[in-house]
Amino acid sequence: MKIHTAGVAVCIIIALLAIAAFIPLRYSSQTAAATSTITLTPSIQSAFPNSITFKIQADSGAVINQLRLHYVVEKQNYAEVVSEGWPVFTPAASVNTQWVWDMRKSPLPVGTTVEYWWTARDDAGHTEESDRYSFAFDDTLHNWKSMVEGPITLFWYDGDNEFADSLMAAARQGLETIENDIGIVPEGTVRIYIYGSQSDLLSSQLFAPDWQGGVTFQGYDVIAIGVSPGQLAFGLSATPHELTHWVMGHHIFNPYGAGLPVWLDEGLATYVQEEQYDNWLNYAITKNKLISVRTLSSPFSAIAEQAYISYAESQSIVTFLLSEYGKDKMAELFDAFSDGATDDAALMQVYGFDQDGLDRLWRQSIGVSTSP
Ligand SMILES: [Zn+2]
Repeated sequence: MKIHTAGVAVCIIIALLAIAAFIPLRYSSQTAAATSTITLTPSIQSAFPNSITFKIQADSGAVINQLRLHYVVEKQNYAEVVSEGWPVFTPAASVNTQWVWDMRKSPLPVGTTVEYWWTARDDAGHTEESDRYSFAFDDTLHNWKSMVEGPITLFWYDGDNEFADSLMAAARQGLETIENDIGIVPEGTVRIYIYGSQSDLLSSQLFAPDWQGGVTFQGYDVIAIGVSPGQLAFGLSATPHELTHWVMGHHIFNPYGAGLPVWLDEGLATYVQEEQYDNWLNYAITKNKLISVRTLSSPFSAIAEQAYISYAESQSIVTFLLSEYGKDKMAELFDAFSDGATDDAALMQVYGFDQDGLDRLWRQSIGVSTSP
């Protein structure tokens, strides 16, 4: 099993027809509307996961010379980021045009909400701003069911309620482990999409690696996992794993854009998922194939054997740090990373050793000679 978390990119909304899923949020331009002669009639067409087409019909008593789409993506940010789309059109008193958001250039995770509005200007000097609308980029290919518990909304379409209950129970258990053993209380809410197969999961994204089993879209509060009802065991493991990435992503979020080294992020996730990788660890020890902590700070290899060894070691290293130094020290380590410290500086500041020192102490703890 391999699981991966996407740093960037990187809901039911039960099969709402994408086209009908916009609702006015507020009426911000009533004064302007009273004097303006421009009428704006927007509509939207979604083709998940490939594109969103924002359409606009604009009418005025004068020639309309400027039309702009403004949109805000709902994600974790320090300030509202407004983007713009400039549709191509020939100036006229009546304009019907569109602007297409091509997801190949900038992908959006399933279910993410986009708030948008249009502005226009004509040759008579009139300006107009439309209402604000909210649109959810839902995957309407499947008939999603959903259940909510605490901060989690679980969506699924394959399998019965018992199947979903089991996954929700695993998620709940994961959150308890994160709180009790790691000392982090989850912030915010998350949507977990359980796709009915790995191929369905991959089809829901434009750029997923073919070995992906689950993904956390950091900042978007979205997790997607491929779990067929016949592979519940995988889901029971993958769900708390990805949830850990989500909780930690929120906890570490900082203005520097700093994250956790991969061994720590994956080590925490594998610790919480409670699946033991001992066989892989023992294999790596026996075959002298252990990977250094320093190497494990970077994204893991896509080669299966090295990836499994990387997960196994990360789980073992995190277990060592928690059992030897406790969760308070771990909390200090998270704070150091949130403050933008480098890997070596963060470890040195909290534990008094750097990545090489951790490598040495951890190898000693599992009875391996510290010489390479
Ligand atoms: Zn992971």
